[in-house]
Amino acid sequence: MQQRITIARGDGIGPEIMDAVLSILDAAKTGFQYDEIQIGEQLFKKGIKAGIESESWNVIRRNKILLKGPITTPQGGGVKSLNVTLRKTLGLFANVRPCRAYSPYVSTKHPEMDVVIIRENEEDTYGGIEHRQTFDVYQCLKLITVPGTERIVRYAFEYARKNNRSKITCFVKDNIMKLTDGAFHSVFRQIAGEYPEIEAESMIVDIGTARLADTPERFDVVVLPNLYGDIVSDVAAQIAGSVGLAGSANVGETCAMFEAIHGSAPDIAGQQLANPGGLLQAAIMMLVHLGMGEKASLIHNAYLRTLENGYHTADIYTEQHSKKRLSTTAFAQAVISNLGNKPEYFEPAEYPIDQEPIKIDLKYSRGLQRPSQHETRQLTGVDVFVYDESDDIDGLAGRLQMGAGKDFGLVMFTNRGTKVWPEGLPETFCTDHWRCRFKAHHQPVTNNDIIELLARLNRANLDIIKTENLYDFAGQPAYSLGQGE
Ligand code: NAD
Repeated sequence: MQQRITIARGDGIGPEIMDAVLSILDAAKTGFQYDEIQIGEQLFKKGIKAGIESESWNVIRRNKILLKGPITTPQGGGVKSLNVTLRKTLGLFANVRPCRAYSPYVSTKHPEMDVVIIRENEEDTYGGIEHRQTFDVYQCLKLITVPGTERIVRYAFEYARKNNRSKITCFVKDNIMKLTDGAFHSVFRQIAGEYPEIEAESMIVDIGTARLADTPERFDVVVLPNLYGDIVSDVAAQIAGSVGLAGSANVGETCAMFEAIHGSAPDIAGQQLANPGGLLQAAIMMLVHLGMGEKASLIHNAYLRTLENGYHTADIYTEQHSKKRLSTTAFAQAVISNLGNKPEYFEPAEYPIDQEPIKIDLKYSRGLQRPSQHETRQLTGVDVFVYDESDDIDGLAGRLQMGAGKDFGLVMFTNRGTKVWPEGLPETFCTDHWRCRFKAHHQPVTNNDIIELLARLNRANLDIIKTENLYDFAGQPAYSLGQGE
């Protein structure tokens, strides 16, 4: 049966590079049938804010594979990112971005670089849960889940195993975010133990990124949460030589989307100047995903040979290493004429044939210790966030203590996370946003006790923004302390 795939040409240079890539796929006799959907600018202009028509979801879900050109994101508010919508709606949890150098044909300071960045694609601050809470304060919720982390970390180890990669580095910031990044790190450590043949290491994201930018050769696969992954994967693609050459796979349990990492490049659109290499890399990843490793190798080797022959598009053309400056279409023709040829300078690509897509079985989906069923969750108090303009900390403490009643004690309150009561310092800068911690004097505490506390605080004229319950898990407090507490 012929494989049907969904394609979306996108905006700017999208149509040119898509035509180039499809001509190569067809010449390589991949046998694909294409179903085309419209996305992006033309739909935004028609007032379709999602940038995709509702019936297109069925086409994507039916074929399970989307090869996508870049889209131009409208400036200004009112429109959500279509890329984020596609990733989250289709559950594309893994973003895989190989970043390798093609030196000397594409100039780079890191000719030995060959790193794969595997970024969690759905969680973290990309839940898009944001609020303005007071005149001074805006909030974005960072959510890290155990199943979400387990999926991406397992995916990274399975990817390394299938692609003969020997080391995985995890980037987190758990010296500061001990609970969220701490959870990511501890899932990483736990799963690493199941793959003894793969070296596992962890780095704090700031020094890790600095080292990656300095000596990328020492890295192999890097796995990281969404926001760090977004930033680090662009750094990695850029230092490999060109953002224009990298492709990425967005993989979920049923569907997968493949795209170049660059944007729609409106500055060169319609001029046949665009390099189709990034989208071609994405198409090669798509072939591997579909178990068509032989075709992936055929096309990848023709591409490498074309680069070696010095046939280059304008963005990578140099007097020293190029022979011909080619248009987008002519570059595709050059790749087609090299189908069947192997590179001589670069190591030929050899993808496994008939490889099954990576499937993930979650083991810890209800919490790391949960399989033992012994973990308890105990409500012990509540953080109440309050809006208050006054600088009178003792006065605020008095009102909070009045509301605490006999069941709860006011333990402390903080401003921007730093303890200001009891025993704060006058130097601590304060905004109009206070986090006030109440602990219950006796157990058990119920949600009803919390509601009654809130009613008392309300009667004491406190302007409550929101609350966060305080829980102990397995007898251990599962919330951060105030700085200086
Ligand atoms: P861009 O990647 O489109 O362009 C940056 C620079 O790189 C430009 O000078 C461009 O000419 C060049 N360039 C990019 N791809 C090239 C290629 N294949 N060949 C040769 N040169 C290439 O980034 P931008 O200008 O910041 O963004 C343009 C639009 O694309 C924006 O609306 C942005 O939101 C959107 N965008 C979309 C995606 C996506 O759909 N996945 C990703 C990034 C940006």
